[in-house]
Amino acid sequence: MIHEIEPRTGVAFELARGQRLRVIDPQGEQVADLLAYNRHDVDEVLSSGRSLDYASCIYLTRGHDLYSNRSNVMLRIVEDTVGRHDFLLAPCSAEMFRLLYGESDPHRGCFGNLAAALAPYGVQPDAIPTAFNVFMNVPVDATTGRLRVDPPLSRAGDSILFEAGMDLVIGLTACSAGQSNNFRYKPIHYELLDAG
Ligand SMILES: [Zn+2]
Repeated sequence: MIHEIEPRTGVAFELARGQRLRVIDPQGEQVADLLAYNRHDVDEVLSSGRSLDYASCIYLTRGHDLYSNRSNVMLRIVEDTVGRHDFLLAPCSAEMFRLLYGESDPHRGCFGNLAAALAPYGVQPDAIPTAFNVFMNVPVDATTGRLRVDPPLSRAGDSILFEAGMDLVIGLTACSAGQSNNFRYKPIHYELLDAG
C-alpha cells in the first residue's frame, strides 16, 4: 500500500528489522528527509558522520549502509534508481529560512515537521540530527569544498529502497525548502514491504 506525504509535511512510523521501506518521488524533483531511531531506545539515532566515514564517500547509494551514533547498521540501501542523495545538510527549518532567505514568517520546515511527527515516540527536537536527504542534489567542489543545492536528479516514479537492520522509528518528510525541489513543493510517496 502506497502512502502519500502531503507537500511540506512529515510523518513518523515504525519499521521492523528486516522490513523494507521504499521512498518514491511521484512527480520528480522532490526531496524527502529521512531519520531513523532505535525503536527500543531513541537515544540511538542515525549518524551522518559515522555513515560517511565508514563508506569513505559522501554520496551514498545501493550497497551502502546508514549507521547509528553507536555504529550499528540502521538501514541498508538495497535499490536506488537515482544515485544522488545528500547526507551533509541539516533538515530545513524556520531558522534556516530566516538566516538564508530572510523570510520574516517562515514555514517550520522539515525540522518542525519531524519534531512534531516524532514527539509521540519520545524524540526531543534537540535529538534531531542531520537527516539522510533522499533525492537531494548537493554537488561539492572537490578542491574548495564549496557546495550548492541543485534540483534533484529524480524523475517521476524514481525510488530508493531501504532494509531495516534493527527495529526502527522512521521520520520522513516531503521537503519544505524551495531550493531543494526547484521551488515546486510536491508530495512524497512511500510503502512498507515485509521481509521477502
Ligand atoms: Zn526540507
